[in-house]
Amino acid sequence: MGEEQLQRERMEYDVVIVGAGPSGLAAAIRLKQLAAAADRELGVCVVEKGSEVGAHILSGAVFEPRALQELIPDWRKKGTPLATPAAEDRFLLLTATRALRLPTPPQMANHGNYIISLGNLCRWLAQQAEELGVEIYPGFAAAEVLYDASGRVQGVATGDMGIGRDGQPTDRYQPGVELLAKETLFAEGCRGSLTKLLMQRFRLGDGIDPQTYAIGIKELWEVAPDQHRPGLVVHTIGWPLDTATYGGSFLYHLENRQVAVGFVIGLDYRNPFLNPFEEFQRFKTHPAIRLFFEAGRRVAYGARALNEGGFQSIPRLDFPGGALIGDTAGFVNVPKIKGSHTAMKSGMVAAETIFRRLSGSPEAGVRRALEESWVWEELRRVRNIRPSFRWGLWAGLAYSALDTYVLRGRAPWTFHHHADHLQLARASEARRIDYPRPDGKISFDRLSSVFISNTNHEEDQPPHLRLREPEKAIAVNYRLYDSPEQRYCPAGVYEIVQQAGTGEPYLQINAQNCVHCKTCDIKDPEQNIDWVVPEGGGGPNYPNM
Ligand SMILES: Cc1cc2nc3c(=O)[nH]c(=O)nc-3n(C[C@H](O)[C@H](O)[C@H](O)COP(=O)(O)OP(=O)(O)OC[C@H]3O[C@@H](n4cnc5c(N)ncnc54)[C@H](O)[C@@H]3O)c2cc1C
Ligand code: SF4
Repeated sequence: MGEEQLQRERMEYDVVIVGAGPSGLAAAIRLKQLAAAADRELGVCVVEKGSEVGAHILSGAVFEPRALQELIPDWRKKGTPLATPAAEDRFLLLTATRALRLPTPPQMANHGNYIISLGNLCRWLAQQAEELGVEIYPGFAAAEVLYDASGRVQGVATGDMGIGRDGQPTDRYQPGVELLAKETLFAEGCRGSLTKLLMQRFRLGDGIDPQTYAIGIKELWEVAPDQHRPGLVVHTIGWPLDTATYGGSFLYHLENRQVAVGFVIGLDYRNPFLNPFEEFQRFKTHPAIRLFFEAGRRVAYGARALNEGGFQSIPRLDFPGGALIGDTAGFVNVPKIKGSHTAMKSGMVAAETIFRRLSGSPEAGVRRALEESWVWEELRRVRNIRPSFRWGLWAGLAYSALDTYVLRGRAPWTFHHHADHLQLARASEARRIDYPRPDGKISFDRLSSVFISNTNHEEDQPPHLRLREPEKAIAVNYRLYDSPEQRYCPAGVYEIVQQAGTGEPYLQINAQNCVHCKTCDIKDPEQNIDWVVPEGGGGPNYPNM
């Protein structure tokens, strides 16, 4: 242990939760409810790497209130930011010039749901948690898992502040804090950086399918009054993607003339020349879509990866001293395009389970308890839909109809997943894609987009995007795949530039632009990029994404 680590302050709790998203906050609230009902003191702490709760939350979002209803039955009386009930669903197949209306699949019917900003819901959940006595520390990134001598997880340490680019303490130096707990819940969201270490150490993924992912890129617009239909939910498939690439768009009309528009692309895409950001910009120029935005104003931008593995990819959730909850374990229902309700429910079930563990039933398991909850049945029934799209859009649609309407989720088979990073074709075998230039009105470039994500990182700090073997950036990524990170990063962090003098290419990493979407950690063909937490508080500052 280094000298500065010895100086770290220690704080002790019963439960520490990493991440103030819907899963972490639901777990914190449930724990305090259970403690109050049992008339027990229970110290619960939540750490959040965003500068405030909600700053790093990006979702669609159409929200299914089932878990919220179970957690806070009188939520309607408590000023919840669920202001816009979903009123109408449209499901469109786009060609380059036309939009054909398809029947809305039952999973995508949103009657009873709400169109929300998930960031604002998290801010509200945080208030409810604090009123129950939960301590929430935004601006603190959990950088290290702490283990006791027996190898049991005993909490996390937040990252040191004020370490310079050279790894040496600067005059801003402040050591991290050790947050010790009897139980630690990891609620880091999709592709958690500490979860990745726990998965390896405790082999939580043995015997299951690999997790698979998509990248979701989103903008928030203020549209002209005559284009605003509060409660309208539009999903599209088809153009501008080819039929081999899984993905589509969402367009949700919220309150106050706001429209959330986004594009999701499965990270099993094959063509290294595909640029998810440009596909999204091109999508907005479709004649059936652009009319929503023509007299509008773009107000926010961001991106985040989401899980697509579903049922087959749920890892073992328990390890000595804690458990995984929410998207870091992967509970997104892909055909529904929803994960917040399952994330919240997994947090609640985990809270109930570890409360039992803390009350003298050490054998209680989070995974076992979740297997008995509605989350399990919900994900089990739709498990074959996403993997069926590996045969392309038409086969996927046909199989999904069969699975939904005829088999009703009871097929006696289970399709399997392949890891996304293994799917890229070599550049020499792939078609180059020409994207139109942005018009600055409906379509934009990446840098002006990142600007409105309000992303900020302390510049003098060690890189938080680490190449395990730096030479592979050119020897493998550039030579074999034409450096796909130049294109899949929605923030333009990775750039191939020519060295002055020699003209040799090298990879420049503009880490200060990173919006923490985690795509590079997932899609790099050699798994050579490690995303680790930067200094707490760094990253995007989403107002209401
Ligand atoms: C584009 C897009 C559209 C979506 N649309 C919908 C939708 O319409 N409806 C729906 O229900 N779901 C939707 N989802 C999915 C939904 O957003 C997720 O399922 C949900 O946010 C998962 O909640 P979570 O608590 O597990 O993780 P998150 O919401 O990701 O929250 C994790 C939190 O942990 C923090 N954190 C992570 N690591 C650390 C660390 N080491 N230290 C401290 N803090 C940390 C993060 O900053 C973040 O605040 C969408 C997702 C995306 C990306
Ligand atoms: S550097 Fe990686 S995590 Fe950051 S925005 Fe780009 S792809 Fe996402």
